Amino acid sequence: MFETTVAGSLPKPLWLAEPEKLWPAWRLEGAALKAGKIDATILAVKRQEDAGIDIVSDGEQARIHFVHGFLANLDGIDFNRRQTIGIRADRYKAEVPTVTGPIRRKGSVHKLEASAARAHTKRKLKFTLPGPMTIVDTIADEHYRSRPALAHAFAAALNEEARELEQLGVDVIQFDEPAFNVYMRDVKDWGVAALERAAEGLACKTAVHICYGYGVKANIDWKATLGERWRQYEETFPALAASRIDQVSLECRNSHVPIELIGLIKGKDVLVGCIDVASNAIETPEEVAETIRSALPYAPADRLYPCTNCGMAPMAAEIAYAKLAALAAGAELARKALSPSPSGRGSG
Ligand code: ZN
Repeated sequence: MFETTVAGSLPKPLWLAEPEKLWPAWRLEGAALKAGKIDATILAVKRQEDAGIDIVSDGEQARIHFVHGFLANLDGIDFNRRQTIGIRADRYKAEVPTVTGPIRRKGSVHKLEASAARAHTKRKLKFTLPGPMTIVDTIADEHYRSRPALAHAFAAALNEEARELEQLGVDVIQFDEPAFNVYMRDVKDWGVAALERAAEGLACKTAVHICYGYGVKANIDWKATLGERWRQYEETFPALAASRIDQVSLECRNSHVPIELIGLIKGKDVLVGCIDVASNAIETPEEVAETIRSALPYAPADRLYPCTNCGMAPMAAEIAYAKLAALAAGAELARKALSPSPSGRGSG
């Protein structure tokens, strides 16, 4: 009960990439970069184990950004044709590559780091991929000229990659869909269908991470416009509840998301965000346990997975790992509070 996990990304070591940036530059190149990515992946797995995390991730150590990492080994994308576009309904500007032909996966994208992570931990392993709608929202398109058609093309490529990751021994494949909080109508019209296509045929656990973004300024400013109660999930959760995806994340710590929205995803595992990635203040185990407790009226305890609100890539490493240790300690407190006392009479 209360197995802990992370949303996905973790800070990279200082020798690998610039710290505390969302789009950092690598500090190595060529063969050194290739080897450094693997070393950093193993280190991230071990540091999560030391922090007490039950379902560890590769920490996205081998990708500069959670979307463009996946695009690296696909046909149909021109990386030299870069354009600056507004993404997430113009919340930020990003310089993105352009789709110029049919999307096709040339071969493995993440095999090396997934294999390294698998070889170096006995714990359950999560691997993250960007969701089709979020990719579509983070790229320019001069070929498909239809967001649903482009999403389905990416979904087919994602599915090939996901099947390979499953074969490599990955236990949970999570699709990151922050765009699900922006284009609520599209989510119902074609977003969930594209997501299901990406997850088609997988026997491992599948998850979708929707969120209100990292703790970067553009997101903090956006959240300030959302009002007292954030109800975006209310529109998308019914479609996700009816989908084949097993797990759904919810940002609970220091957020304005009404916790009772968990009730809209009955039957799903819930990744309960207990760690605020927009603040350097380290949660106490008691605060984590309190967040877990607040979810209990809305879902069975064995469906709750304490997690971080979002990825931790832009944070300082020492703070991120201290937060993960608090997450694990808080889950342990919550477990003890629910389990029978040593006398066997129950602790009430
Ligand atoms: Zn997120």
